[in-house]
Amino acid sequence: MRDVRECEGADCVLLFLPANPRRRWCVASACGNRARVARYYARHKP
Ligand SMILES: [Zn+2]
Repeated sequence: MRDVRECEGADCVLLFLPANPRRRWCVASACGNRARVARYYARHKP
């Protein structure tokens, strides 16, 4: 059994098989990018 992981995207409930063990999102350019943007705004809020 391979290691299925749950996407960490905020609104995403997809499961995926990470090609890279450090991968956290089903689609890095979608869910991963959203997480990066959210983190960016959280850090730059007054
Ligand atoms: Zn996702």
